[in-house]
Amino acid sequence: MNKGCLLVLSGPSGCGKGTVVKRLLERNPQLRLSVSMTTRSPREGEEDGVSYHFVTQEAFDKTVEQGGAMEFARCGNGDCYGTPAAPVKAWRQEGLDVLLEIDIQGYRQVKEKAPDAVGVFIMPPSFAELSRRLYERGTESEEKIRQRLETGKQEIRCAEEYDYMVVNDALEEAVKQVEAILLAEHARMEEMRTIIEEVLNDAQTISQ
Ligand code: ADP
Ligand code: 5GP
Repeated sequence: MNKGCLLVLSGPSGCGKGTVVKRLLERNPQLRLSVSMTTRSPREGEEDGVSYHFVTQEAFDKTVEQGGAMEFARCGNGDCYGTPAAPVKAWRQEGLDVLLEIDIQGYRQVKEKAPDAVGVFIMPPSFAELSRRLYERGTESEEKIRQRLETGKQEIRCAEEYDYMVVNDALEEAVKQVEAILLAEHARMEEMRTIIEEVLNDAQTISQ
């Protein structure tokens, strides 16, 4: 059995990563979302173990020290985020596709550790729309939104480090594009060795 695909989604806060991920999970039963650990406080409606594993700084540091994180990063305001390594490894070995919704610092580390990971940058249709979405979501103070927009600008400058870009204008179109990327990744020649061998074995049997 082939290993599942490791798809990394990044993009400025408010571009719609969470919304795209939710639709992808509803439509693709072979897909699993890695639940990150974070030291930030839960927002209203966020559930521990579902949105994130909300942990103390001490617990976070201990996991990292013990090698339990595939990647980790500290964002501008000091909050730490990290991807627990074990579930990602287990799911991929089962042939399931895995989604990581992480920032660029994390993406760079994942690419080092797993060069077959595929990076998709989710882009807002415009900066004005990004700002509108953050205000409309209403989960952060004006000061935090301004901070996130500033970080967002820096992230957009690094978008070319990713393998693909999807503009999240019409949601369903964006979701279909990510699904098309997954399909294409599964058709990669590296994934096809067993099929080539099977067809050649078959050819040998027929020609005998
Ligand atoms: P992120 O996870 O990237 O921070 P969210 O998924 O929370 O972003 O989306 C930010 C806001 O934008 C939410 O209010 C969401 O409903 C809205 N949104 C997401 N995608 C679209 C889209 N394609 N068109 C319009 N609004 C969107
Ligand atoms: P938020 O606080 O809005 O949920 O996330 C803030 C930022 O942290 C987003 O850019 C998000 O992609 C990133 N992030 C979430 N989980 C992880 C993770 O496990 N590792 C890294 N490096 N970034 C993460």
